[in-house]
Amino acid sequence: MGYILKERQNQVSVAGSRAETIDCNKASLAGSVSQRACVFCGSRVVLYPIADALHLIHGPIGCAAYTWDIRGSLSSGPQLHRLSFSTDLQERDVIFGGEDKLTKSLDELIDLHHPKAAFVYTTCIVGVIGDDVEKICELMSEKKGIPVIPVQSPGFMGTKKDGYRIACEALFKLIGRGNKPIQEHSINIVGDFNLAGELWMLLEYYKQIGVNVCCTLTGDGRVEDLENAHHAALNVVQCSGSMSYLAVMMEKEYGIPWKRVSYFGIEDMSEALYEVARFFKDDIMMEKARELVRQQFGRLLPKLDWYKQRLRGKKAAIYVGGAFKAISLVKALRLIGVQTVIVGSQTGTKEDYDLIRNLCDEGTIIVDDSNPVELSHFVKEKGADIFIGGVKERPIAHKIGLGFCDHNHERKEALAGYDGMINFAKEIYATAMSPVWRFTKK
Ligand code: SF4
Repeated sequence: MGYILKERQNQVSVAGSRAETIDCNKASLAGSVSQRACVFCGSRVVLYPIADALHLIHGPIGCAAYTWDIRGSLSSGPQLHRLSFSTDLQERDVIFGGEDKLTKSLDELIDLHHPKAAFVYTTCIVGVIGDDVEKICELMSEKKGIPVIPVQSPGFMGTKKDGYRIACEALFKLIGRGNKPIQEHSINIVGDFNLAGELWMLLEYYKQIGVNVCCTLTGDGRVEDLENAHHAALNVVQCSGSMSYLAVMMEKEYGIPWKRVSYFGIEDMSEALYEVARFFKDDIMMEKARELVRQQFGRLLPKLDWYKQRLRGKKAAIYVGGAFKAISLVKALRLIGVQTVIVGSQTGTKEDYDLIRNLCDEGTIIVDDSNPVELSHFVKEKGADIFIGGVKERPIAHKIGLGFCDHNHERKEALAGYDGMINFAKEIYATAMSPVWRFTKK
């Protein structure tokens, strides 16, 4: 493996080859061309689905390119989150400061759009020139009568995971401000971003088993719901890499326990429902959950078997943001006859990678914070047929001549929940079996 930089050797491991755990949770190696996103990106991905808030990026226009078009979180009501506002800092602002521009932008945008709250994201250049964003937000909040929350996220000040933490701290400032009565058996759905409407399917499942959802963080999110999120009995956290910080803070401040779940794959989806029913110690709820799972398995298994017959023997490479999702994907792929030969993530923890090591077949490559050179070599070495990743992995797969399945925030097809499993099988089948790959060079 001469293509792995010396300093990164311990961030790559092979299942079954050695017992020691992978080196992870550290800053990307300079010059490695990491696939990881920046701190600002981490914050933005968590906060932007709040649909009735204003999201203003204080920085050069390039940072604002990261918009709703790339990350299509859906809203059932307001669509303000789909607009990407920027202070568009220029050379002159970098020299003389961008505070005036920020003040004027906030003033104008709040009057124009009447948001319920505003988030102001700082980017690399603001971290360098040192605009007093906190002060401006405080003054603007007083002037307009809405929370104006600074999100101090200069891209260079850590990893994407630091961006998640900063976003959770920003959310925490909203939580606890409301006093709306809450129904019994209420949960918060934490860490689902309603990509392709996935959250709406989850709401339906929870409704069927008698669980009330108090607040969704942050998919299809509303400021008022966030302000009342502290009334829920339980935080159910998916994508724990991004939002477990918030769950921990809420447990400490409001005594709300939290459970980590995954909604990907029918096994993990079912376990999520059972986990919630177990928490409420409610026999009726548990029976309803069992009934729902029975119905869904009866409906789905014959269909999934059709795909399994045809996909048996295919190999998959997975490289995603959070490692917990990768674990669900390995199981979901197994269910349709596909073997996982590479698993990697941008933000996995030691515990996540230990789980992956125990779950995967011997010889599976496990990698933390990878880069295009490594991923290209791994895929060729293991003879993968399909690559499952996000927007930055797509060109790697296509350049090598490999089927690709988008399982990141750009996806336009719902892949969570029971129907999501069928959509996932369809996508894997369509891309892996496409005749086009006969004409590409591997
Ligand atoms: S690394 Fe800095 S300049 Fe680049 S997108 Fe992130 S905040 Fe903006």
